[in-house]
Amino acid sequence: MIDKFEVAIIGGGIIGCSIAYYLAKEKMNVAVFEGNQIGMKTTSAAGGMLGAHSECDGDFDAFFPFARSSQFAYSELKEQLNHLCGLDIGYRKGGILKLAFNESDRNELQSILSQPTVKWLDKETLSEMEPHISNKLLGAAYIEEDVNVLPMAVCQAFAKSAQILGATINEYSPVHNIHKKENGFLIETTTGQVEAEYVVVANGVWSTTFFKQLGLDRQLMPVKGECLSVIDEKMTLKHTIFHDHCYIVPRSNGRLVIGATSIENDWNEKVSLDGIETIIAKAKTMLPNIAHLKIDSFWAGLRPQTFDRKPFIGHHPEEEGILFATGHYRNGILLAPATGQMIRDLILKRQVNNEWVEAFKIDRHQPFAIK
Ligand SMILES: Cc1cc2nc3c(=O)[nH]c(=O)nc-3n(C[C@H](O)[C@H](O)[C@H](O)COP(=O)(O)OP(=O)(O)OC[C@H]3O[C@@H](n4cnc5c(N)ncnc54)[C@H](O)[C@@H]3O)c2cc1C
Repeated sequence: MIDKFEVAIIGGGIIGCSIAYYLAKEKMNVAVFEGNQIGMKTTSAAGGMLGAHSECDGDFDAFFPFARSSQFAYSELKEQLNHLCGLDIGYRKGGILKLAFNESDRNELQSILSQPTVKWLDKETLSEMEPHISNKLLGAAYIEEDVNVLPMAVCQAFAKSAQILGATINEYSPVHNIHKKENGFLIETTTGQVEAEYVVVANGVWSTTFFKQLGLDRQLMPVKGECLSVIDEKMTLKHTIFHDHCYIVPRSNGRLVIGATSIENDWNEKVSLDGIETIIAKAKTMLPNIAHLKIDSFWAGLRPQTFDRKPFIGHHPEEEGILFATGHYRNGILLAPATGQMIRDLILKRQVNNEWVEAFKIDRHQPFAIK
């Protein structure tokens, strides 16, 4: 007999697991199909910054309020998930310091600095807050509310909590095909077939296969990011520091994560010497003492990028039972709670902010094709 679910979610990264959690909380019969292990692809590569301010790129209409709602959701989630499944998501206050070495850097920070929640700190204040950072700085924009989490812990906590609430989590079960049936869909995986009323495509950068299968002329581009972590037993850094596309994130486990490169259209998930060399050089400019720390680990992941760098969240334009939650580029950790809530609300036919529906729908106007 074929198993039947109300919702089948393709992909068990942070996005698929968040959706499973929010739907299971509403007592829906949900199953996640993950081709590998929960969270082990792009989610496991992330720095874990919840950079609503630092990532909004001037989009205050849709992206910023959506990202802020997600950031706020985390402050409740840290207790809710811990209470339910016992996992600690590593929610860490401190915020981000966007460093300025000169006036040109400072000018680039002007749009962030115009926000009431962001402060300019001069060199003296900065060196009191972070005594080990470079003494060549002019100052920094301090975004106290852009906190950070441990991405894998969040993903596992969503999955485990969803399971406790009744969801089925299938690992090593890649989905190959989605077929339309009279009252729903038949989903083919390597481990068998299941039926579902709704299907959510949430398999990150690999979602393009399903766009094609479902008749949509859309594509995701991989943007490879390489990182490394070093052991910082003395916990020399208290805040995430950021400059010239490089960041150093202090984690509660005594590690500093240094990231990340951005290499477009590279599907190879291995780390290159050039990539690591580049980010080490930038990290040393920000935090000179880092040169003495020992390497713990290095890794790479593929950010799923859409043509306008905003995610695809919403219904298939012609098939209401199919939904997309993918293309979160460099913000999937930040946007996971808001994405899970939005998919829940669309399926349950609750009211959803129309600006978000329009901004993230998969058939929004695309002015150019991506290579
Ligand atoms: C170096 C780096 C640093 C980053 N830092 C941050 C950060 O600080 N903050 C932030 O918000 N974001 C960050 N990101 C971005 C973030 O990691 C991603 O946006 C997010 O992980 C995307 O989650 P996802 O669930 O869509 O994709 P994934 O985590 O890739 O999950 C998709 C899952 O689908 C599975 N899958 C694929 N095909 C199939 C199939 N056919 N059937 C079943 N399963 C399938 C895969 O195995 C995978 O587990 C970073 C990314 C990188 C690479």
